Amino acid sequence: MSLEGLIKKQEDKQGIQEQLAQVKNMVKTCIQCGTCSASCPNIEFMDITPRKMWRMLLMDRFEELLNSKSFYYCSTCYFCTLRCPRGLELTNAMSALKQIGSRLKLKHFRSSALFYESFMNNVRQYGRVREMEMMTRYLLALKSPGQSLSYAPLGVKLLVKGKIRPELPSMGAGKLAALFDKVLDYESDHESDQVSNQVSEQILVQAQEG
Ligand code: SF4
Ligand code: SF4
Repeated sequence: MSLEGLIKKQEDKQGIQEQLAQVKNMVKTCIQCGTCSASCPNIEFMDITPRKMWRMLLMDRFEELLNSKSFYYCSTCYFCTLRCPRGLELTNAMSALKQIGSRLKLKHFRSSALFYESFMNNVRQYGRVREMEMMTRYLLALKSPGQSLSYAPLGVKLLVKGKIRPELPSMGAGKLAALFDKVLDYESDHESDQVSNQVSEQILVQAQEG
């Protein structure tokens, strides 16, 4: 399917093309040495190696890239970023592709997108992950009774061993909602690196103040 075909909402078109251009810019000095691919612990699950992904990006082969499963098998371990001889922000590039995949509502990215959404909603609510609630919300969002049931034996085992504990969900927006909203505001006005610097500074100041 072409990129045009993947973008279902026309109002998303410009934003997605800009995001892709930003990711392309992140890897523009790649020398195709393959260190990222050789360092990736999840390479066996990927249908396109990271090195090849960056080449595809630079060649504007976006639709092939977005139709692949590689970027959502990235577990954000940062090995590739640490080892890239050009110092490229490869993990951030993978994350940006995941955001694009989520925005495009790619069918093959659906379960990953729902998982990330459940994870982030949980962090937004509590400042940490409550595993049981997060998984319950994720499985409900999946709307796949078969898949949900397949997790039941593991869930019971973890409960019995005390690895997870049942907690009632709390209502409301959560204590960190204001912070998240502020980051979203910044993101709409600033480049991502400026945002993280400013937010880090704010968090530091708030921490120092008490
Ligand atoms: S390690 Fe860096 S320079 Fe080498 S292929 Fe990967 S992105 Fe390109
Ligand atoms: S950050 Fe992602 S792509 Fe990079 S080595 Fe880790 S799993 Fe692989």
